[in-house]
Amino acid sequence: MNDVLVWLIPLIVVLVAGASAALVVPRVRRSRGEIVAPPKRPELGSPTTRPPAEAPTGPEGALTVEDAEAPPVLERPAPVAGRLVRLRDRLARSGSPLGARLLAVLTRDHLTEDDWDELEEALLLADVGAGPSGELIDALRTRVRVQGVSDPATVRAMLREELITLVDPTMDRALHTAGGQPGTPGVVLVVGVNGTGKTTTVGKIARVLVAEDKSVVLGAADTFRAAAADQLQTWGSRVGVPTVRADRDGADPAAVAFDAVRQGKATGADVVLVDTAGRLQNKTGLMDELGKITRVITREAPLTEVLLVLDATTGQNGMQQARVFGEIAGVTGIALTKLDGTAKGGIVVAVQRELGVPVKLVGLGEGPDDLAPFDVEDFVDGILGQA
Ligand code: GDP
Repeated sequence: MNDVLVWLIPLIVVLVAGASAALVVPRVRRSRGEIVAPPKRPELGSPTTRPPAEAPTGPEGALTVEDAEAPPVLERPAPVAGRLVRLRDRLARSGSPLGARLLAVLTRDHLTEDDWDELEEALLLADVGAGPSGELIDALRTRVRVQGVSDPATVRAMLREELITLVDPTMDRALHTAGGQPGTPGVVLVVGVNGTGKTTTVGKIARVLVAEDKSVVLGAADTFRAAAADQLQTWGSRVGVPTVRADRDGADPAAVAFDAVRQGKATGADVVLVDTAGRLQNKTGLMDELGKITRVITREAPLTEVLLVLDATTGQNGMQQARVFGEIAGVTGIALTKLDGTAKGGIVVAVQRELGVPVKLVGLGEGPDDLAPFDVEDFVDGILGQA
């Protein structure tokens, strides 16, 4: 009997303590969605938001809080301006085989048909696509005929100009987030096949917006994959952004999207970012799901951007996905992830041509701030491997 009591009493103490802790966790339960409040964000610029100089940092400089007893410290996302320049060496590493190959051929003394074929092959291998590759070769042939091939610096400048034209500097690459009416947030719907980096990209965009002093609400409308909501919530809580999520697996994603937008309106947020599930196996189901999400969002607030997330390493497969989502989701911009993991930066050109919408963001690593607004000149300089 005494033995039983020795075990039973500590067990009861632990259970009672656990139950009372659960009662003091601040959160609001709703019929369909659950709003998970992040730790309170201290004033920007307050010393508490800055990691102490000696704090342990991850590979990208992110603060790793190891002391569970310490109050939660919010991360300060890296400034957005100049991100692509900061990440350019990654682009150069991934893109330089293309830039280097093109320059090596173009600086030869007398360009033969074989040389032009070699150039075209290099472009095709980098996923530029047949149409755009042909255009670039034609433009270069004309210029070489008129100007002749001269010193490497001039050839590089010529190639740079033609690549910039090909990537198209005239496209509007701003991520549209302004809701218009005061008190109405802009809504960004993020779509794409699972595994492309969708949830990660939503988290990274939230950080970009926080870095621009915007208030954000996240909607975890990928209710199919339970871990996706946890993942999103973790991204949000690191920078003080609340996540609206379903209180059970398999809930209606449109209801979560609706609740997220309502929450954004109620709290006067600037932007609501909605993550979705991307199951391509059933195109009709996906079409219905995204259609319903879009309808319920637009009843409450303007859908300012539909961002398609594509994995740059998937080549033709990615192009196929782009086609399907382009048909069903009214895509207005592309976030191209994992450009750090491929030598095929040409996919930027191919996918823009396919969908007729611009690449607006590029993912260049797994670090929390490894997402950059796409800039044509910086991108081309990255591919050519030189500032
Ligand atoms: P989802 O299923 O589309 O939501 O994909 P996730 O956001 O879960 O991402 C899938 C994997 O891709 C994760 O391991 C991410 O860290 C990784 N990932 C996302 N974006 C990038 C990127 O730009 N570069 C690299 N190298 N990995 C990325």
